[in-house]
Amino acid sequence: MGVRVVKRYGNTFKEKIYLHAIFGGMKTTLKHFTANLSDASNIPTICYPEQLPRDITPRYRGVHRLTHRKSDDSIACVACFMCATACPAKCINIVATERTDGVDEKMPEIFNIDLLECVFCGYCVEACPCDAIRMDSGLYSVVGDSRESFIYDKAKLLSIKGISNEEFSLAK
Ligand code: SF4
Ligand code: SF4
Repeated sequence: MGVRVVKRYGNTFKEKIYLHAIFGGMKTTLKHFTANLSDASNIPTICYPEQLPRDITPRYRGVHRLTHRKSDDSIACVACFMCATACPAKCINIVATERTDGVDEKMPEIFNIDLLECVFCGYCVEACPCDAIRMDSGLYSVVGDSRESFIYDKAKLLSIKGISNEEFSLAK
């Protein structure tokens, strides 16, 4: 009562020899093969890295960068450690120091991100109260020849440009 009997598949002789399924798959492969031969623009793959993808959304989380203050082009980061605290991978290493240019703020003496440990979650960007760290670099392919080369320091993070050409922090 109230029991629904579900038909079992795969028990007939035709299903057990798999020929029908194999030829069905071959038919689909052949259909795409001939379509791609006649018009290569149908092929959804690209010859990466010679060809770069063109359909990446602006919200894509790429390699991090540190922004500058619009007023004097200095580093926008105030070394508050919010990003490092929010980071689930614990891959942000900050050492704070006093600013010597008259601005009553701290700044990072050391600001390192280990990209081999980073999971690109974007929590650091969300946590930052100064819009000082962003992931809008458009860089999604990172290569290196040693573990150390994947640790991006302050100078490297400050040198990376934003994909939208917006280089400055929106915070004051
Ligand atoms: S993207 Fe996530 S894992 Fe990577 S540094 Fe930011 S908070 Fe940490
Ligand atoms: S990047 Fe932002 S959250 Fe991280 S220490 Fe600097 S100001 Fe604070």
